[in-house]
This record gives sequence, structure tokens and C-alpha cells, in this order.
Amino acid sequence: MYDIKKVRADFPMLNGKTMQGKPLVFLDNASTTFKPYSVIKAIDEYYFEKNSNSHRGDYDLCYDMDVEIQKTRETIANFINSEPNEVVFTSGDTEALNLVAYGYALEYLKPGDKILISEVEHASNVLPWYRIAKLTGAEVCFVDIVDRRVTVDSINKAFKENKNIKLVALAHVGNVLGYMINAKEIASICHKNGALLVLDGAQSVPHMPVNFKELDADFLTFSAHKMCGPTGIGCLIGKYELLQKMATFHTGGGMNVKFNKSGEVIPLDAPAKFEAGTLNLSAIMGFRAAVNYLTELGMDNIHKHDEELFKYAISKLEGHDDIVVYNKDSNSGIIAFNIKGVFAQDEATLLNSKGIAVRSGQHCAKMIDNTIGDIATVRMSTYLYTSKEEIDIFVENLINGGDILDAYFN
Ligand code: PMP
Repeated sequence: MYDIKKVRADFPMLNGKTMQGKPLVFLDNASTTFKPYSVIKAIDEYYFEKNSNSHRGDYDLCYDMDVEIQKTRETIANFINSEPNEVVFTSGDTEALNLVAYGYALEYLKPGDKILISEVEHASNVLPWYRIAKLTGAEVCFVDIVDRRVTVDSINKAFKENKNIKLVALAHVGNVLGYMINAKEIASICHKNGALLVLDGAQSVPHMPVNFKELDADFLTFSAHKMCGPTGIGCLIGKYELLQKMATFHTGGGMNVKFNKSGEVIPLDAPAKFEAGTLNLSAIMGFRAAVNYLTELGMDNIHKHDEELFKYAISKLEGHDDIVVYNKDSNSGIIAFNIKGVFAQDEATLLNSKGIAVRSGQHCAKMIDNTIGDIATVRMSTYLYTSKEEIDIFVENLINGGDILDAYFN
């Protein structure tokens, strides 16, 4: 394991920052994460030393930028076990999912086809499919949720009950309850039934080892900002033959070989054909630094750390019957809970008054109330730098946090 004190020293946001006059306890890591100095330095390096465009000049500075992009692609490919040319840069997870929707599904789905999703998905893995269904005449259908999660059995049942499922889109780890699906088994069921699997890795890739080739998913998406990287950058990882088959989404400079006055456009090969316009170059440099940072700590260690904190927090909440936890047997660093008789947003506001950052509501998974049986929850989520002391402060304030009115009149 790594030394948590040393790790915390790598993050400027953990260096004495306060909120509401109290030491900041940041437990909203499923939303976004802090960046270590090495990532901030890599972003700065672009502006201080490497500032140029890529693919667009015959001078060294520009060539150096091409090298930086390729190095980042290779670093991500190593990290996730894909080929470098299977790494497409997007603005984040949401854009990556939209790229599959508009580049693949819009091109290949037809009336009568089905897209299988679940009611626990994040909006970014629901709304693009609704839009594609409208545009193609395909239909969105839902897999059964069993014990608040998507199971292999429920996927098998969905294929039995629905003919023509052509695409299955699921979160690898859910962003509210943190349950992990059996992606490898589900990919195999999808392929046996002639469907593709789109894996939303926003909450898995930052937290555990994820092996694209071994899982055999067809597409995998994630965002850098949830894994110590910059905002505005993320990835679509796709099997190369599928990327080559896909239509382009954004078009413009940098993605074509040539075009003419008849409107004919010859795109470049993947991944460049999806990367129209100037890329987020400083973020690409920061992304590589983030992946290197995680790799150095070890993804197994990061996962273990989340699991240990989860177990520790759950054990400390044991016996407090007024605290309802919805995912006690989860596989992640996410705890979704409510205090009996207290509205989730009031509880989050009260915790804010104590310097503790958590999120309340539906967490962009706006169909999950059916699964949970409540309209809103409070969500605390840890990351590689979260300390046991922070969990102690969180639990202490849940149990003895005082009245909601404290938040307003203190
Ligand atoms: N899917 C899941 C499971 C998520 O947790 C999130 C972020 N909350 C997203 C998609 C969207 O990610 P982004 O906003 O970085 O595009």
C-alpha cells in the first residue's frame, strides 16, 4: 500500500484549505477529483514551454506536440490495455457516449432494433440513446434491476424477452450505488446475441484496474477529471474495426484527407477521424500525467484503499438505525444514504456547514428513485487521498451533527 500522508501532500487542495471556516473534508469524488502537482505542472508546461497546435506546422514545436499526443495515447492504451489507435480523445465521458450514439448507433440501428439500458444509469448514458431511438425508429428497453443492481441473470432475461437488441449500454460501476456489473460475462452474452456492449467506465476506470481487451467490451468511456486529470478531456476506447466502421461525429479541420466541391469527404483513419478541430492540448498533457500518477500508486492499491474506507465507514455507521444506507454491500467508495426524517439536501447543507462536501439529490440518475424507493439520497464518495480521519469527521457529524437550523444560523 502507499503512504496516505505522502499522497495527500501531492495535492494543493488538501493543503490547509477550509470551507465554512472548517478544514475541508472533500467527499464528492464521484463528481470530480483533485489534481496533484504533477498534473498541474504538465498543464502549465504546455502554456510555458510547448504552446503550439498539433498537425499544423512544419516546425519543431508543432512536431513536439504531435509527439506529446501520441505519448498520451500510448500511456492510456497501456493503462487500459487497448491499442493506441483505439484511444479517441473526447471532451469527456459524456461526449464519448454521444460519439458512440451518433457515430455508431445512428448509422447502424434501424426501426425495430432495441437498445438495452437500465434505470440506474447516469443521464449521459440514457439521453443519447433516447435521441438515437427518436432518430432511427429503434426502441430503448430496460433490463430488470435485482437487489438494486444489474445482474447476469437479468441481462439473459432481457435477451430472452426482447428480440433485436443490438446495443447494450451500462455503467461498469454505478454512480449512485457503486455496484459493479460483471462486464466480461455481460459482454459475452451480448456477443452471443449479436449485440455490442458500451461500457460507461466513468466510475470504474478511475478506481480499479480495468482491462479493455480482457473484458471484451466493444466501447469503453471515461473522463480524466474523475481520475486526478484535467476537466475537458476524456476518452472513447473502441475496438479498432468498429471505430473504422463508425461515421464521423464532429467534422472539420484535422479529421480529413481531402474534400471537394461535390461535397465528398475522405476522412482520416480512426482515431483521427473523430478528432476534428484543435484538441484540448494542455489537458492531453495533464491527462498523461494523471494516468502516470495513478499507475505509480497502483490501481490495485487505489481500489483497496476505497474498499477499506468503505468498510470502515459502514462499520462506524452500524447501530445507528436512523441512518439508512442503500448500498451496504457495494464494491466501491460510494455510500448512498439518508437520515430518517431529514431531506437529503438539508443533510448535505448541514454537512457543508461543517466543512464536509457531499452531494445530494439524484446524482444525474433521475430514474433511480424506483430502485432506491426514495426520491433523493446523500452521496459520499472517497478517492485515493481520502483519509480515515476524514471518515471519522464525516461519521461524527452525521451522528452528532446537530440540527439543520445550525447550518443557517451558526
Ligand atoms: N456516467 C457516469 C456513471 C458518471 O458518474 C458520470 C459523471 N458523474 C458521467 C457518466 C458523466 O461524466 P462527465 O460529466 O465527466 O462527462
